[in-house]
Amino acid sequence: MEMDKLVALCKRRGFLFQSSEIYGGLNGFWDYGPLGVELKRNIKDAWWRDMVSGHDELAPPPGAPESYEMTGLDCTIIMHPQVWKCSGHYDLFHDTMVDCRESKKRYRIDQMRGRWVAVKLPGGESGLAAEKAAEVERLGRLFIVSDAESPEAAVEDTVTRACQVLGIRKKKAEDSFTWESTAVVGIDAKVDRSRVLAPHATWFGTLTEPREFNLMFSTQVGAAASDDARAFLRPETAQGIFVNFKNVLDSTRVRIPFGIAQIGKSFRNEITPRNFTFRSREFEQMEIEFFCHPDSSFQWYQYWRDRRMKWYTDLGLAGARLRLREHHADELSHYSTGTADIEYAFPFLPEGDFGELEGIAHRGDFDLRSHMEGKLDPKTRPLQLEMGPDGKPRHRGSGKDLSYLDQLTNKRYIPHVIEPSAGADRATLAFLCEAYCEDQAPDDGGQMQTRVVMRFHPRIAPIKAAILPLVKKDGMPEMAQELYRTLKRHCNVFYDEKQSIGKRYRRQDEAGTPFCVTIDGQSLQDGTVTLRDRDTLKQWRLKADEALTEIRQRVQ
Ligand code: ATP
Repeated sequence: MEMDKLVALCKRRGFLFQSSEIYGGLNGFWDYGPLGVELKRNIKDAWWRDMVSGHDELAPPPGAPESYEMTGLDCTIIMHPQVWKCSGHYDLFHDTMVDCRESKKRYRIDQMRGRWVAVKLPGGESGLAAEKAAEVERLGRLFIVSDAESPEAAVEDTVTRACQVLGIRKKKAEDSFTWESTAVVGIDAKVDRSRVLAPHATWFGTLTEPREFNLMFSTQVGAAASDDARAFLRPETAQGIFVNFKNVLDSTRVRIPFGIAQIGKSFRNEITPRNFTFRSREFEQMEIEFFCHPDSSFQWYQYWRDRRMKWYTDLGLAGARLRLREHHADELSHYSTGTADIEYAFPFLPEGDFGELEGIAHRGDFDLRSHMEGKLDPKTRPLQLEMGPDGKPRHRGSGKDLSYLDQLTNKRYIPHVIEPSAGADRATLAFLCEAYCEDQAPDDGGQMQTRVVMRFHPRIAPIKAAILPLVKKDGMPEMAQELYRTLKRHCNVFYDEKQSIGKRYRRQDEAGTPFCVTIDGQSLQDGTVTLRDRDTLKQWRLKADEALTEIRQRVQ
């Protein structure tokens, strides 16, 4: 599937719009249109129902080491700034970036891909001024950065750019350049920037020194513009759960093992938002912090990893485009004994590449301990301790006891945490990509035509059924509207009487509506209607008052 087609459909049919589009848009921000909001809400509702409110319908859920409880929270986006100090985000949540002085663009150093080349300028042929030619001679090795998406296009792009900048005709490229590698490679922060040609620059050496750039958006709380009033928009929902751990324990009867779930907005000032909604600056997360005894934590980690993977496959992300990838030991955070990513081969990624949908991490007791004691691992960067008025380092943690007393054994311990952390927008994007399909279907005259159909799992489809009177007369609209009003009380249905029936079916196929209910002449006589299945195109008659039961059964 070509991504351009999906992007066009999302705009045309109202799944996604660029934020503030009439003012030229704002990079990294997206709005959900009338269909998109239903789709995303259905995904979030399915997550909440399957993970939280209905998690024990299959008690205990298959694969779970024992039965457990789940509860929810809804925390604020702006929290006490000390939360981010203790979580590590204030000191460690950054990307290394460089600016281009010429184009004014900003790049993440880990995303700069290109090729090293040694240049042999072909004398008078290069068309370069003498001093520029001398500079190229002096530099010797040059790194040409490309911002093309696919590695093949990037290789080609490096040749084109090198020719343009050095004034060499493309035909002469082979004689003039010795490329160090046939494929594109990354560079690191240590590379001499005078040798680098940035993607939108016309000469070498336009990049600044690398800088660490914290990804948290900051703001001021209240009218005072002092440093004390500085606060941050949360970059993840998880910390709200950790700091409320004790409140949840004290206000409910939950006992370990149990999980706390939250769905909510997070904000990251991403340096290079890209790939539609995949990397946005404002997005929604669906996170669980699952608290368990250290001895069974690895079993729980395996349980959540498999359970989360199954959730995506059950909702239709089956097949080779979805995978579960365990991190290698050297990829793990210092506190983690296991992390896995659920990844999807998004069509905008180069062939064979996968993008993260969700991370499932064994976090040990790192977070609760940090909020208790403010201890961070000395292997990470040393923290600048804040000094109190007595000249001693100020306690960085909350100082509150976040341990758990097991009433059966009377032993106290700090629970271990398994964190399945998913992005609602990335999941929505993956479901959109997976659903897009072109096939052949008959038009009004019975001729086969290409149709675009969004094959969403019925549970997440924005509209469950469309109610369509065959023609706008003879009492058909009245009967259809009555059925519409009955169904509307139970699920999201849509009424449409405009245009030919074939065109109306097509519109519903593009919206991903799994069923169309058609009311025709026979309906008025015997009370039956026709149900059409979006995927098989099969049509069958049933009594109008059976339509609701039939649709509900099939939607589940
Ligand atoms: P990435 O490596 O892609 O930046 P991450 O590992 O930083 O992601 P986490 O901090 O683990 O992501 O966040 C959990 C989930 O939140 C991700 O799996 C993803 O689904 C979602 N997410 C994170 N950053 C973004 C973003 N900028 N835009 C949309 N979703 C995001």
